[in-house]
Amino acid sequence: VPTVKEVWFEGGEPFLVYPLLLEGIRLAHEHGFTTGVVSNAYWAESVEDAELWLRPFAELRLGTLLLSDDPYHHGDRDPSPASLAREAANRLGLGGGEICLPPPDRLDGVRFRGRAADRLTEGLPSAPWREMTSCPDEDLRDPERVHVDPFGLVHGCQGILLGDLTRESLADLLARDEPDRDPIRGPLLRGGPAALVEEHGLEPPEPVVSACHLCYLARQELRERFPERLGPAGVYGATS
Ligand code: SF4
Repeated sequence: VPTVKEVWFEGGEPFLVYPLLLEGIRLAHEHGFTTGVVSNAYWAESVEDAELWLRPFAELRLGTLLLSDDPYHHGDRDPSPASLAREAANRLGLGGGEICLPPPDRLDGVRFRGRAADRLTEGLPSAPWREMTSCPDEDLRDPERVHVDPFGLVHGCQGILLGDLTRESLADLLARDEPDRDPIRGPLLRGGPAALVEEHGLEPPEPVVSACHLCYLARQELRERFPERLGPAGVYGATS
């Protein structure tokens, strides 16, 4: 797929599969991609310890290291593991930066889906679900990026599946993809999460905090009807 220039290794938490992460970066470079890693740096117990974890990435010439450094990931730990890892990364010459999400009541950083929809929405300002008429964050018709999970499933947005790379190549998948005819992306493209609710005859719970919140609640309801399009189970807080 000629438009794909970069491969990023994100979470969950990619350091949980540390040897595979290193090998993935090596292979991505071998195929001419630039690379990036996003981690919460749970593994950094001191700057010296973090240097041991990160030295192989410097040797592999990792492109960018982004570290999640906010209370969602580290509570009130001071210094945070991410700040220890950043100091180690600086010593090793690894470039990158931090991802710092604001508190949920700012409503401008947290995407309320997955655990965020379940655990962070209580008490926040809400709006009628019919106002959620567009997707704010993903271009579902002509995506500039896709996510590939450890099962080989390709996601447009987390939990919205385009196909399975264990069955076909990404090039073939994209060539035959018809997002407007997709039972999930089609309604989202026509009228956002509100259309997803209306076109499938769902009764959404009131109120919702954001478009992503409604989208996630609707997809939870639809998951059993469209198992090929909505998964894997873990993204929806389920085990099967
Ligand atoms: S959760 Fe739904 S509304 Fe939010 S970015 Fe993803 S597809 Fe768009």
